[in-house]
Formats: sequence, structure tokens, C-alpha cells
Amino acid sequence: MTLGRIALARIPATRGTIHRLFSTTLSSSSTNRTSPPLSRHMSMKSDNLVSKLTSSGLLKTQGLIDGKWVDAHDGDTIKVLNPATGEVVANVPCMGQSETNDAISSAYDAFRSWSKLTASERSQRLRKWYDLLISHKEELGQLITLEQGKPLKEAMGEVIYGASFIEFYAEEAKRVYGDIIPSTLGDRRLFVLKQPVGVVGAITPWNFPLAMITRKVGPALACGCTVIVKPSELTPLTALAAAELALQAGIPPGVLNVVMGKASDIGDALLASPEVRKITFTGSTAVGKKLMAGAAGTVKRLSLELGGNAPCIVFDDADLDVAVKGSLAAKFRNSGQTCVCANRIIVQEGIYDKFADAFSKAVQSMQVGDGFSEGVMQGPLINEAAVQKVESFVEDAIFKGAKVLLGGKRHSLGMTFYEPTVISDVTEAMLLSREEVFGPVAPLLRFKTEEEAILMANNTKAGLAAYIFTNNVQRSWRVTEALEYGLVGVNEGLISTEVAPFGGLKQSGLGREGSKYGMDEYLEMKYVCLGDMNRK
Ligand code: ADP
Repeated sequence: MTLGRIALARIPATRGTIHRLFSTTLSSSSTNRTSPPLSRHMSMKSDNLVSKLTSSGLLKTQGLIDGKWVDAHDGDTIKVLNPATGEVVANVPCMGQSETNDAISSAYDAFRSWSKLTASERSQRLRKWYDLLISHKEELGQLITLEQGKPLKEAMGEVIYGASFIEFYAEEAKRVYGDIIPSTLGDRRLFVLKQPVGVVGAITPWNFPLAMITRKVGPALACGCTVIVKPSELTPLTALAAAELALQAGIPPGVLNVVMGKASDIGDALLASPEVRKITFTGSTAVGKKLMAGAAGTVKRLSLELGGNAPCIVFDDADLDVAVKGSLAAKFRNSGQTCVCANRIIVQEGIYDKFADAFSKAVQSMQVGDGFSEGVMQGPLINEAAVQKVESFVEDAIFKGAKVLLGGKRHSLGMTFYEPTVISDVTEAMLLSREEVFGPVAPLLRFKTEEEAILMANNTKAGLAAYIFTNNVQRSWRVTEALEYGLVGVNEGLISTEVAPFGGLKQSGLGREGSKYGMDEYLEMKYVCLGDMNRK
């Protein structure tokens, strides 16, 4: 996904809180045909919500460097928009290289003392942070819905999920063990120490404004690393609120810094600095490749969680209800805007028509609307570029012979709402099966044999998540082992959890996040050979 076009508004020294501006600068390159105005004055309802969030102290609109809330050096700001309404929620600083260098210095200085704390001292602060995230889950959920658009219930689910990484790594902090290696010589003792990598640059996307940050910052801080977070410019408010709670939890100044603004300038500063020892990134494969190339200059460690193209294979022997529910959850979570969303629903010919019918009925019942409205299951897409991408993929499929069973166009609500869509007779030649659509479109492909399904599933450069639905135990193992994917859900569409490793094969990335394995990404191994002091 590469949808990160942002509103770069030159508003001199507009430090502080909220701005209600009329603007059409969401995307200078958005030349869409039918779109409504892209940003507006705030309605009374949003105004009330924003005032409540402001008085809670969680609507932060400055960057965080060395424990201080700061503006961009030149006072430039970026507008943060509510994708459901186009309203400007806030202006945040548009930072670049020099602010990032300040953040690096602060993280570098803080590393000395933070890494020297005992694991238990770090653990207690992380635990406190977790408690604060949970006790503020409503405000954080509201911020997520406000800037990202997902339904409030789903946003609150993200807060619980996001916070769970902080809780888990507060516990794991105490379990960083080294090793003793049996020596080859009698007068020596051999040890392995595990030590924090150092300063970490964490670059995160807009689709999970909290969880993609905590999944990186939790293990980093637990190990004794310090971090500069660069959230997406589309969703910085949740990151800033989480950082405020980290300060309240007693995480010292400089341990967690947040900068946002000119993405490539910030990225370049992080890459160029020899003091930054690791980059951890979640986002598009294209940007991930740039970061990988850029990290070579200083030989930094890298974790990359990039795009997917998840197959969801439904076999004839699947339980139809389980397959429909599981595929629905895997496809339509966050309006299809996650890298583990089912991108291709590959259905065996014997069950194809029944599945298409039952699945379409289930999709039809999903209510679309503003994430703050009761009962809504599908919010807007993140921005106009996202809608245009979905439109172009659907047009391509129709042109190449696919049939729209449901939806297939912008929603009558306008803005960036798109109808939940089911398309049948999709083939491997279509964009819908070759690339991530990152929207609420479920393409149905047909297969005959298990071998064919595996070939189709693996016929992509991506390798993040895959799903299979079958009641045959032998088949579930056989197919799971043959799938070139980092995560496999068997008869289950929602599989992410803080206790299991998350990460991809092939061009979906490097490294794992979550679980005990997620700690290794932030630890160096040091081999120590201790000679015999008494030797003459
Ligand atoms: P998306 O489609 O989700 O915006 P991106 O890969 O473009 O995917 O963005 C993910 C994150 O990477 C965002 O925080 C974005 O600002 C950041 N980003 C984009 N380009 C660069 C870059 N050249 N260097 C560093 N970070 C970048």
C-alpha cells in the first residue's frame, strides 16, 4: 500500500491545539471525478468530542523530543483529517531532518541510563504504561476512530490489542537470559550475554495507529533500547496520546520520542545516523525496500513488516458457516485495510456457488457509516487515493471478465466510503489477485484440485498471512506446510495475538513481531571468553 499523500499546510507557528480550517489540500495529486470537498469545518458533534479529548489531556498536537512537547523548527504543520467527514481534527508539526536529529541525540543520551536500569525497573514502568493505556481505552479508541475511521468498537479492540504488547513485554523484560557454553579448554569459561541493540527508529503506518507502535516499542523498551517513533502523518494523534501516557507512566525523557512530518527526510536522518542501530518498519514493500537499501550505509539491523497478498482457500470439505464467517472476518476487518486481510478468496469448484451466495448475503448485511455511529461495521477508507486504487482494481477486473455480485462502487454516503463488494470469476490475470487491494473488495477465484490451490496461493511475491478452511485434518497439515507464508489460519480468520510471532516470508518482510521471538529483534548477542585468572 502506498497511500500516504498528506496535507502539508504552511501555517506559521500554529502551535498548540486544534484548528478548524476549510481546506482542500488532502492530496494535491487527488484528481478524482466525483469526490466531495476533502476537508471541512468541524461539526458540533466532532467539536464536542475534540473538546472532551482536549480536556482529558490526550489530544497532543506537538512532537515529543527529550520529554518535551515541541513544534517543527520552522513552525510548519500538517492537518490531521477525519476520513469519515473530511473535517480537520488538528494540526501537528511537520518535522524533518533537524528535529529528527534532535530526537536521535535525546534517544542516544537516554540509552545510557535506560539500558542500565534493572529489567524489573523497566518492567514496572511498562506495566504502568499498560495500565494507563487500558484505563484510557475510550479516549484512545475515539482518537483512532477520529483520525483513522474504523468503527469505535473495532478501535477499542485495537486499544486492547495494542496495549497487550506492552503488558506482554513488561513480563518478557524479566526473561532475557544469556547462555553458558561448555568450554573446549579447561582453563576457560564461555558465556553469551544478551544486550540491547541501542537507539531504534520505528516507522509505522496509519491502519493500526496504536498497535503497530506498541508492537515495536514494547519489546524495544523492555530490552533497554530507546526509540524514535515516526507515526504515519495521517494518524499521528493516537501515537502522541500513547506517548503522553508513557511519560505519565514514568518512562524517562528521551526514551520514547515522536517525530512526524516529511517522511523521507525523517527516514533519511534515521538511516544516516550511526547512532541509530536499528530500523523497524511496517508499511509498503516499496518503502521497505528503500529503507533496506538506505540501512546499508551504516549496516543497521532491520525488521520489515511489508505488504501481503493473503490467500484464503475454501475447500469443498469446509464447514460452510465457518468458512463464511472466517473469510468475512479476514477480509473486511478495518474495511479491508490490513496487510493480513484476505486478498484472494480461492474457492473449490464444488462449493463455489454455495459459498458465493452465503458470503454475499453476509457481506450485504454489513452496515457502512461513520465509525462513531451505532452498529456500523465498515468505516471509510483512509483517503481519496485509497478509493481510487480500489476503483481501478475493480474496473480492471470487470474489463477482464469478472462479475460484480455485490457493491462495486463508491458508497452513496460520499467521502471515501466504498460499498462492501464481492466479485466472482476473478482470475490470476487481474490486479485484484496480483496486488493488495487494501479495501472492502472480496475477489472470488475458482480452483479444482488441492495442488492447483497451493500453486495459486503461492503465486505471489508476498508471503505474510494465509487462511485455509477444511474439515480434513491431513489436508490442513499438508496445505499449511506447503504454503509459503509466515502466518496460517486454519478454520480461523482472525489470528493475530501478542503471544504469537507475526511476520512474513519472501517480499513480505524480515523478522518477527510479538511473542518471545519479538524480543530477539532488539537484542545483540555478545560472546565472552573468560580466561583463567590464575594461569601462570
Ligand atoms: P502507506 O500506504 O501505509 O502510507 P507507506 O509505506 O507509504 O505505506 O507508509 C508507511 C510509513 O512509512 C508511514 O509512516 C510513512 O510516512 C512512512 N514513509 C513513507 N515514505 C518514507 C520514506 N521514504 N522514508 C521513511 N518513511 C517513509
